[in-house]
Amino acid sequence: MPMSSSDLARLGDEIAALAAHLTAATARLLDLIRAFDAGGGWSHGFPSCAAWLTWRVGLAPGAAREHVRVARALATLPRLAEALGRGELSYSKIRELTRVATPESEERLLAVGRAGTAEHVQRIVRGWRRMDAKAEARQTALQHALRSLDVYPDEDGMVRIRGRLSPEVGALLLKALAAAREILYQRRRDQAPDLDPPTMGQQQADALALLAETALHHELDPGAPGERYQVVVHIDAEVLANSEARGQSVLEGGVRVPAGTSQRLACDASRVVMRQDAEGRVVEVGARTRTIPPALRRALHQRDRSCRFPGCGVQFGQGHHIRHWAQGGPTTLSNLALLCRRHHRAVHEEGYAVDRQPDGELCFRYPDGRLLPEVPPPAAVPGDPANALRAGHEADGLILDAHTATPGWLGESLDVGYAIDVLHPLAR
Ligand SMILES: [Zn+2]
Ligand SMILES: [Zn+2]
Repeated sequence: MPMSSSDLARLGDEIAALAAHLTAATARLLDLIRAFDAGGGWSHGFPSCAAWLTWRVGLAPGAAREHVRVARALATLPRLAEALGRGELSYSKIRELTRVATPESEERLLAVGRAGTAEHVQRIVRGWRRMDAKAEARQTALQHALRSLDVYPDEDGMVRIRGRLSPEVGALLLKALAAAREILYQRRRDQAPDLDPPTMGQQQADALALLAETALHHELDPGAPGERYQVVVHIDAEVLANSEARGQSVLEGGVRVPAGTSQRLACDASRVVMRQDAEGRVVEVGARTRTIPPALRRALHQRDRSCRFPGCGVQFGQGHHIRHWAQGGPTTLSNLALLCRRHHRAVHEEGYAVDRQPDGELCFRYPDGRLLPEVPPPAAVPGDPANALRAGHEADGLILDAHTATPGWLGESLDVGYAIDVLHPLAR
């Protein structure tokens, strides 16, 4: 039998009211996600809070990233957060508004959300972003045009430097200066440990000299990407086999690193074995060899396809020796597992364990020994979740009905250009 129009109207009201309840519950969900994210609850084995949500809650990766983004944004947008919590502005509207809202523009955008439909909000936010992008492009172009560096001699022969660099070039320079200062500091410590250290200004000047020297020495060649990121580790054979053993584990440049880090870097790497005599002089240098030969690596990728850590699935990985080669573990398919960079770190340096069971399956454990399941345990859900939700909101004094989320729109058509002109602080 077809439903009467009054039945259908009631059904429509029920949909609208339940949607408002879901909106209010979403605000709570985002609060929880924000706290979990800030507390690093996901960091025990996931590259991000969104990846954890995908694994644990079953959100699609894009939706998970959006939940985390919106949750973070609402931390500084209390009025929008409130409107979501009262079920007034739908998650769709809040999602759009948080793309552009700042504490300064929040109030105006809240009014947009209250007045317009979700589609209006989307169009206004798009227009707002275009205006932001224009303003940002103007700013960037202006900065780029203002870049300059003056180098000129003083009356007494000293050379003065004055300039303005764009932010990313400035960051590059600061990084290079810091690296050069570090090198000079080590040289000083080794060669003249008793001398008073130079002032910061003097150190910066010395660092700049080292940068210039180095640049000319390398004929201003920044090098191939592979070389630039190559990391050299010096580690004693005993330390490689046993983290507790005494011995050196240092990066080139002398920075000490934990044995776990060296073991990870050596796990899937090319290596050069050097033998030293008792005084530390190198007496023999072997040929460079890959730990995992190319044919075996192909077979490993063929078998594992992606990182084997539960819930990961990142496609590019390193071959992890389940039993380290330095401890006598063989470089064979059964002793190897593909792990992404993040999870390779988890097993070497963060206490996660991985073993291969007799049946060939991998078994991962948390640092405290608990089993890390491939699939998360199901969440407890009451038998009638919609009623439980309503009852919970009522108990909190939150009264929601079919009109809670109705916009103030009266049916007039939307002129986005006009709206942006009126609303956006940088519109002109
Ligand atoms: Zn490894
Ligand atoms: Zn992984």
